[in-house]
This record gives sequence, C-alpha cells and structure tokens, in this order.
Amino acid sequence: MLDSVRCGNCDRAIDGTDQRFCPACGQPTPAHRIDWRFLRHELEHSVLDMDRGIFYSLKHLMLRPGHFIRDYIEGRRARHVKPLVLLMILAAAMVFVAKYFLDGDLVGSGLSAGGTAAAGTKAGGQFDPARLLKVFEVVKEWMNRNYTATTLMLLPLEALAFKSAFRRFGNLNYPEWLVIATFLTAQSFVIMIAAAPLEYWFPQVRGWALSLVFVYTVVSLTQFFEPYPRWKSVLRSLLGFGIFLMFNLVFSVVLTAIALALPGQH
Ligand SMILES: [Zn+2]
Repeated sequence: MLDSVRCGNCDRAIDGTDQRFCPACGQPTPAHRIDWRFLRHELEHSVLDMDRGIFYSLKHLMLRPGHFIRDYIEGRRARHVKPLVLLMILAAAMVFVAKYFLDGDLVGSGLSAGGTAAAGTKAGGQFDPARLLKVFEVVKEWMNRNYTATTLMLLPLEALAFKSAFRRFGNLNYPEWLVIATFLTAQSFVIMIAAAPLEYWFPQVRGWALSLVFVYTVVSLTQFFEPYPRWKSVLRSLLGFGIFLMFNLVFSVVLTAIALALPGQH
C-alpha cells in the first residue's frame, strides 16, 4: 500500500534512502503508515511541541506580537501554524468557554427577539423611532453575546480599517492586512479565553479584558512598524480603531434592518 520508491503524495520517484522530504511537493518520504506511533508523533510535533506548532505560535503572538507578525509577513513562517488555523482553533475554544462559563447563546435567539420587537412596529401601523431604537439595542446585545461570531464576520472590515489608517505606511497590501487582522483577532481571543473563567465570578473582568485587547493591538502594531516613530504608530492605531468602530456601527445598523425585515413570530 505504501510505496517506498515513489512519493506517496505526488508519485515522484524517491532519489535515495537519505531523502526525507519529496523535493516536488514537500511531503515526508517515505510516507509512514498511520498507526498509534504515528498519531502520537503527529500530536507531539503539531500540538505540544514548544519549538513549532500551535503553542509555539501562541507564545510568540502573546510575548513579542509585533515582531512575530512581521516575521510571518516577511516569510519566516515554517515553524508557525497558519493564521486561519490558529484563529479557528481559538474560535472553537472561545465557543467552548463561552458555553461553560458565560452561558453563551450561540444560535442567535437575540436576533429573532429583534424580529419580534420589529413585528410590534409593523402591527402598530406607524413608524415608531422608540421601537426602532429598541431593535437596535437588541441587535447590539446579540452582537455582544455572540462575540466570537461577530468578530469573525467583522475580520475583513478590521483589516480594511487598519489598512486605511496605516495608508502609505510599510506598503502592505490588503491580503497582508487580512493576515495581521487575523493574528490580532487570535490575540484578542486568547485574552478573552483567559478572562472567561474570572468573568464568571467578576462580571467587570470583561471590560478589563476588552481594554487589554485594545492595548495589545496598539502595542502589536507599534512593535510591527518599528523603527517608525512610536507615537505615529500609536496615533494610526487609534485612527484604525476609530474607523473599525464606525464599520461596527454600520454593521449593527445593517443587522437592525435585517431584524426589522424578519417576520417576528419566533
Ligand atoms: Zn511528492
């Protein structure tokens, strides 16, 4: 089943017994049969290893964020987990801690509550700004409760916000900003995950955690753009945050419009 003279992945001939990786596709050669020993080995080297993999990337993301992200953008990537994989793992962990510590609502009953409130508006016949405001409040609350989902949905806008704020700074393109935003979001998830168990006993911890996320973003971007003057990076980070908050507001207005259009019998 497993050939020892050809690459298991792309079928290229193996050059010799000392070949460890296929020169054409990069897969280890010869491919090992998947057994318990293989699984243990994979787990050790992809998850638990402190010199590469998830925990290695997390360590760098939290301890030297700006340098780490710049390293990644500039091509020093081999030891690190892909940003989207890292974000997905952390998002899953977020959903888990939200469920166990914060009584998280993940299916969005809040939005249908918005629909119900909107139904009142229609039933009344006339347009009622107080009702509209109420729906908006419900939507804001839904976004807050579904922090993980909302953050993921807003990721492309976060990238756009910081790209505009750092225009002509470092000459980064939008895909590169997407990677930066993904890492910054992963970082915010680490902070929120660490805060969640405390939040269970001290509700005010969420506010502190969000402030810490803010500080971390500013510090990361300032470090990223070294040796640009620090105060310039800080100002542009704040501008980026401002633009992002505006996008956030537009997003919640759009959600409010959707909630208003929903049939509200839920
Ligand atoms: Zn190959």
